[in-house]
Amino acid sequence: MIAKPLDDSLRAIVGDTHVITDADVRATYEVDWTRRFSGTSACVVRPANTTEVAEVLLRCSDAGVPVVTQGGNTGMVGGGVPRDREVLLSTVRLDNLHEVDAASAQVSAGAGVTLSHLQNHVRLAGFDFGVDLAARESATVGGMVATNAGGIRVLRHGSMRAQVIGLEAVFADGSVVRRMSGLIKDNAGYDLPSLLVGSEGTLAVITAARLRLVPPLGVRAAALVGVDDAQAAVSLLSKVRDLGTLAAAEVFFAEGLDLVRAHTQLPNPLPAAYPTYVLLEVAARPDPCDEFVKRLSECSEVRDAVVANDVAGQQSLWRYREAHTEAISAEGIPLKLDVSVPIAALAELVAALPTAICAVTPDARLVLFGHLNEGNIHVNVLNAEDCAELVTEAVLRLVSRLNGSISAEHGVGRAKVGWLSLTRSPEEIAAMRAIKCALDPKCLLNPGVLFDDS
Ligand SMILES: Cc1cc2nc3c(=O)[nH]c(=O)nc-3n(C[C@H](O)[C@H](O)[C@H](O)COP(=O)(O)OP(=O)(O)OC[C@H]3O[C@@H](n4cnc5c(N)ncnc54)[C@H](O)[C@@H]3O)c2cc1C
Repeated sequence: MIAKPLDDSLRAIVGDTHVITDADVRATYEVDWTRRFSGTSACVVRPANTTEVAEVLLRCSDAGVPVVTQGGNTGMVGGGVPRDREVLLSTVRLDNLHEVDAASAQVSAGAGVTLSHLQNHVRLAGFDFGVDLAARESATVGGMVATNAGGIRVLRHGSMRAQVIGLEAVFADGSVVRRMSGLIKDNAGYDLPSLLVGSEGTLAVITAARLRLVPPLGVRAAALVGVDDAQAAVSLLSKVRDLGTLAAAEVFFAEGLDLVRAHTQLPNPLPAAYPTYVLLEVAARPDPCDEFVKRLSECSEVRDAVVANDVAGQQSLWRYREAHTEAISAEGIPLKLDVSVPIAALAELVAALPTAICAVTPDARLVLFGHLNEGNIHVNVLNAEDCAELVTEAVLRLVSRLNGSISAEHGVGRAKVGWLSLTRSPEEIAAMRAIKCALDPKCLLNPGVLFDDS
């Protein structure tokens, strides 16, 4: 699959056991989490440090062989799996995690460190990490930087971009850029780390990150609230936002809850069923629970609510929301479209989606959930395998009409390349292509991701 001279060079760099050519072993790297995207790699290479990454990229560049970078392989848009005999560079061995720098509230982490490993590490030192998401056991620092991951704490701490103070990365020609000093103020020219955040592996391989840490959230309380519709959810959010202690606001709907309950055997969270559910969490010192409950009791949108102020109770409420992705995947291979609209247009989007999708395929089964505060809805469509392109077109055009984004937090990947122009102007796309050509002139890094191959 791979020319002998390149194979020999890669083995000399990373060692025989870390150049995987066996088809069965490669297969686990060649299909993505959603099972919608797959391909064949020439081989899987697992470098152990930045020097090895640089040498691997230099050899591949010399041989003109494209490289796809993969972290935890939990991405949703097919950006981390090969298409056609690329070298797959896995970052799993870049798992160096440095001691927490308490004075600056920062930590340096290798690209292959998983989110849960990072969280456990920094919590032992009395800190927390500002981004959290349900794929925490597998998603890596490098993948989260490369996708500018969002998740459930954006409301409080911002997305991954807001956590990145510096990066170390390797360009396609093997040159290494490093900004890991942790300086908060450092205005000397273009901010390359910012450019690489959200670049989806198309500009460089990220090898390490210098990350901002946040104080632990303190005492928490969570409430699962039944409301009438998406408009009531938005209205409720506007009434609790000024508590100042809000740490999360998630939304899901009756269809999703039914699916989660069938998949997990969880009991009904509330005595009656509601069309829409909002999961709110507050966190602060001192205990914010009493003020939270009082505020909820004053909100006319709340039809019923269950509140948990102990950890076990909170975890079981979160399970209703976090089990959505796995419950949907247990039903089949869904078409997944992660979109955002201005919060004022959220209810219109939720109301219009069923009609837009049914017009393409009446048998489709739609499950929506998402991050309420950012107007971010994960659109999951089951039974749409045969008309995925048409459904994508219908949903993304609707989102564009509502001034939204075709990608809220998962990225463009391979999945949405054809629709980038719905969200970015020709001038912006031209500028992005110019940056790509400058940093990766042979177009060897993640070809077909973000832009089409031309
Ligand atoms: C159950 C579940 C829940 C999820 N919830 C959320 C959520 O709430 N919010 C959210 O934003 N995402 C969510 N995701 C999506 C996913 O977890 C994120 O996109 C995550 O950031 C991907 O990290 P990864 O290490 O798995 O990256 P991968 O899937 O391996 O790669 C993703 C992209 O990043 C590139 N990449 C990976 N590592 C590097 C690197 N070191 N250098 C350069 N490029 C790299 C890849 O080439 C690819 O384009 C969820 C996924 C699952 C399965």
